[in-house]
Amino acid sequence: MLGLLGALQLPAAAAQPVGAWHAGVFPVSEFLSYTSHYGSRIGPGGSAEWHHGLDIAAPLGTTIRSWWTGVVQDLIDDERCGIGLVIRSGAYEHVYCHLAGRVEAGSLRSGPVTLVPGQWLRAGQPIGQVGMSGRTTGPHLHWGLRYRGSWLDPARILRAMAESRRALAESRRALVESRRTLTESRRAPAQNQREIAENQRRARVVAPKGPYGPSVASFR
Ligand SMILES: [Zn+2]
Repeated sequence: MLGLLGALQLPAAAAQPVGAWHAGVFPVSEFLSYTSHYGSRIGPGGSAEWHHGLDIAAPLGTTIRSWWTGVVQDLIDDERCGIGLVIRSGAYEHVYCHLAGRVEAGSLRSGPVTLVPGQWLRAGQPIGQVGMSGRTTGPHLHWGLRYRGSWLDPARILRAMAESRRALAESRRALVESRRTLTESRRAPAQNQREIAENQRRARVVAPKGPYGPSVASFR
């Protein structure tokens, strides 16, 4: 398992026990495509800008889910992000933008969801719906991730989640296999006994009887 830590290539500070990443939840229930990756890109004004997140295209109204268990830290209502929120999970903050709905009187209303700062969320809990609020040309979720205040590429976290799920499935398979081997090794003496008994039975059949050959007893 330790070898996987290196394979993940996450920033050293962001390295969690590898087994933990599988608990993350992909933040939209319906995925169409990634429309803009994390990093440098040409902005709407034609000049280079840094994109602090991953844009995930999804149909209008698609359920947005909290990536991790955490607490609602901030609600957002501005020109760029539109309607959105920040959730804190330990040293991680996850940001969600361009939601449907509105922020009103200190709470976010998006589809059937109402959220207030300080509210606890479990991983995968619905936190709103995909909309067109803020600076966007089509319905998508802008998903940003900060670790101790520094932006991370969410695609790396998604890869870590996939890798962790794969490792978990593999270790479960290995566990099942080792249990099977153990069961077989426990069964083996009984099987040997059966084979011995069978050999003895055959021995009786082929063993010459009478005073001129070995007696049945000598095969036991
Ligand atoms: Zn974006």
